[in-house]
Amino acid sequence: MDHPSPVSSTLDRWLTGPRIPALPAPREMAPPKLSFEFFPPKNEAMEKTLWECIRRLEPLSPRFVSVTYGAGGTTRTRTHTTVARIVAETALTPAAHLTTVGATKEEVHEVAREYWAAGVRHIVALRGDPPVGAAQYEPHPGGYAQAEDLVRGLRNIADFDITVGAYPETHPTAISPEADLDFLKRKIDAGATRAITQYFFDTDIYLRFIDRCHKAGITAPIVPGILPVTNFAQVQKFSAMCGASVPVWMGHLFEGIDGDAETRKMVAAMVAAEQVRLLQANGVDEFHIYTLNRSDLAYAVAHLLGARAAQAA
Ligand SMILES: Cc1cc2nc3c(=O)[nH]c(=O)nc-3n(C[C@H](O)[C@H](O)[C@H](O)COP(=O)(O)OP(=O)(O)OC[C@H]3O[C@@H](n4cnc5c(N)ncnc54)[C@H](O)[C@@H]3O)c2cc1C
Repeated sequence: MDHPSPVSSTLDRWLTGPRIPALPAPREMAPPKLSFEFFPPKNEAMEKTLWECIRRLEPLSPRFVSVTYGAGGTTRTRTHTTVARIVAETALTPAAHLTTVGATKEEVHEVAREYWAAGVRHIVALRGDPPVGAAQYEPHPGGYAQAEDLVRGLRNIADFDITVGAYPETHPTAISPEADLDFLKRKIDAGATRAITQYFFDTDIYLRFIDRCHKAGITAPIVPGILPVTNFAQVQKFSAMCGASVPVWMGHLFEGIDGDAETRKMVAAMVAAEQVRLLQANGVDEFHIYTLNRSDLAYAVAHLLGARAAQAA
């Protein structure tokens, strides 16, 4: 017989392959430090969805929730309004994303001062992407060139807690992986407290990146950014632009269920659950969840990690 039958190859694997132990359960571990990311809504219906999401996640007591800043600073007012409402109406600690694109230093300072005056003490400081249609990033003539410069500028404005971005698979326009890591170190050395990563799907990619960060002398926390995926086709498109790889195994898991939203959601939950539980089993205890303003998967992921809703008094 040239080929072993499927039965014997399964038996062979069972008898000779490595056994995969059960992952530890959250009860055996300290509760994770969680943060959730939202984007500012464009209309009333989206505002309602966002606030349902915020209210559902609030009892899980995340250490902060962040609100993104639209490409090219296009959501300046909407981001501010959302963050200010979080301060005014919830017990949550907000972090406002702020980018340098298309703005002078003075304009950026003004936004930062407005945040400080509104009681916001945490900024996610980013360079931002070039506007749609632009071939490459060009700093504003009177603006900050890179996130590192923005971090330094913010430090001079007020005593903000500052988070920056990190790229486990290297930023798509970086000169080299080494240079990218060096720039990350410079952002931290300039005064950032932590970095949050671009999303990734293979746990190994993050763990290897952490090894590289440690070797480069980066000791600040590098918090994994977790993106629970339900729309696989959309994620494939977006990932090609932001330099995140989409593993072949993930394509297999979502194969043939494009038109079946219910199954896609179950598969999405399983993929995200497996990812965070593996990270947790490897000692990771901080997670930033990209919610896309939907609470269901974010809540499930947080729950699986051991987060439990605080009981109302
Ligand atoms: C957690 C997270 C949240 C994000 N939120 C937003 C958001 O709200 N709004 C938004 O528009 N975008 C957001 N982004 C996307 C981000 O703006 C883009 O990835 C952007 O292209 C890079 O931003 P950065 O802050 O990482 O830039 P930087 O750290 O400045 O790096 C950008 C590129 O320049 C290189 N570089 C850095 N310093 C130098 C230097 N001195 N000389 C030469 N090259 C240098 C780096 O290697 C990298 O290739 C987010 C990204 C992450 C990871």
